[in-house]
Amino acid sequence: MDRKVLVIAEMKGQKIRNVSIEALTAAKQVAGAGNVISAILGTHSAIQVDLLSQYGAEQIYIVEDSDYDEYHPELYTHAVVKLIQETQPDVIIMGHTGNGKDLAPRVAARLEFGLASDCIDINLDASDEIVISRSIYSGKLFEKKKFNSGPIFVTIRPNNITPIQQATEALTISYTVEKPSITLLIKEIVRRAAEKVDLTEAKVIVSGGRGVKSAEGFKVLQQLADVLNGAVGASRGACDADYCDYSLQIGQTGKVVTPDLYIACGISGAIQHVAGISNSKFIVAINKDPDAPIFEVADYGIVGDLFEIVPQLTNEFSNI
Ligand code: FAD
Repeated sequence: MDRKVLVIAEMKGQKIRNVSIEALTAAKQVAGAGNVISAILGTHSAIQVDLLSQYGAEQIYIVEDSDYDEYHPELYTHAVVKLIQETQPDVIIMGHTGNGKDLAPRVAARLEFGLASDCIDINLDASDEIVISRSIYSGKLFEKKKFNSGPIFVTIRPNNITPIQQATEALTISYTVEKPSITLLIKEIVRRAAEKVDLTEAKVIVSGGRGVKSAEGFKVLQQLADVLNGAVGASRGACDADYCDYSLQIGQTGKVVTPDLYIACGISGAIQHVAGISNSKFIVAINKDPDAPIFEVADYGIVGDLFEIVPQLTNEFSNI
């Protein structure tokens, strides 16, 4: 079946988010001989046209307006509803980012579409029907779902779909949306100190738990993360103990991460933590307790003191 698929691309600063490129690849997978359309909002959106067309967008709707530089629930919901009404897609895909988590249910509810959130795959089965895969019960099981009717809205978890370049001659459409009257006024946006690498999109994460013992101890993890071009994460134990900011918390009530390499240092491996890391490609655990549950989910385990092992790893990798 040929389908029209709309990808809502998302910017972070002046760059397009990786997950939006992954969404384009997912869109190509399910479109068949149909169309892949992309929409992008904000001041710098026009400069992303080349990138979107390299990954298969055939039509690109640009809403170049500074009112969309920061996410505003009402403005974005209104604009995306209008874009969907204009383009009439069978499937809408966007990243399961902070904004995606808020926007997708609002739009789906407004248009009475089905919504599958936080999917790790979207593909076609033998009878050409769309099947989505997502993890449930804190990452213990994976479910596959089909939809009886469309249109459907899907958000995809970052780092699960490998982007494939499929260059097209994209048609660019400058699109203007009339603004609705808004009830929500965002007075101030307070940003945390910018992470060098976004945790949810990081390929390598060095994560610390209560075993790191202090904020000072986290500097040792940062050094290893720096040589691996990765990000630092944390267990809730470490956040509760004030060793680091809650924005670093990974797990059931923190961020869900999907790196190629997750290095857990001084983390016991409680089920609520493992819920956030189970989709990592490789898990390495460093813990001085050989019976720590983290070793049950780790691909490689190192029993020992993290303050001896982590600097050795940093030293070793900085020589490569
Ligand atoms: P601990 O369990 O205290 O483990 C510390 C580990 O460090 C131990 O295994 C110890 O052997 C090791 N260690 C100590 N010193 C060293 C050293 N020098 N070298 C090497 N190893 C050392 N937790 C999360 O992480 N994320 C969540 O999102 C989350 N959500 C939760 C939601 C709910 C509803 C509940 C009830 C709990 C949640 N938790 C979550 C908390 C979770 O249950 C655990 O309490 C927490 O993950 C423990 O953190 P930890 O592993 O850092 O600490």
